[in-house]
Amino acid sequence: MIPGIHMLAGFSLGFRHRRQLGRLLRETPENQSILALAPASLQRVGIRALALDFDGVLAHHGAPCPIPETIEWLKTCQETFGGDKIFILSNKPTEGRRQWFAEHFPDFRFISGVRKKPYPDGLQKTGELAGVPLSVILMVDDRLLTGCLAALMAGARPCYIRNPYVSFHHRPCAELFFMTLRTCERLLLLHMN
Ligand SMILES: [Mg+2]
Repeated sequence: MIPGIHMLAGFSLGFRHRRQLGRLLRETPENQSILALAPASLQRVGIRALALDFDGVLAHHGAPCPIPETIEWLKTCQETFGGDKIFILSNKPTEGRRQWFAEHFPDFRFISGVRKKPYPDGLQKTGELAGVPLSVILMVDDRLLTGCLAALMAGARPCYIRNPYVSFHHRPCAELFFMTLRTCERLLLLHMN
């Protein structure tokens, strides 16, 4: 596949779902980080499995493992949902990250070998592995036109992390690039509705 094709796909597929994405954006508090999500509350509203993006959601871009606060959050999720209902669905499923999870959260599963988000393939695989309907899977992502769009296309539930982890100290170019992408997609969705 051509590198970056999923980003272009995000912009064109996003047009079809612009109203739902626009509503999601408007309804998400500006300070929404993953730590604001209480696993027990998610369970009460019917969520039974989690598909978690990595970059921006569990750590800053390019980090080898989650930051200490999100590790604690992951432990609570594991107690609440069971580790076999938690999936890492990143467009960068690196071997280092896979090994880190295998060591620290061996029941979590790392989705790889599928078309990148916004294609729904990773969420469909998540549903098959979790043995639950897609409608009870929450996709947590800091990108509207990749993870959140994938959730809408797959029939899963999107959760937009509007206040992602960033580290200009570690990855200035990557963070600037993704900050620009996030701003562009927000502006586009606010103006296309
Ligand atoms: Mg991300």
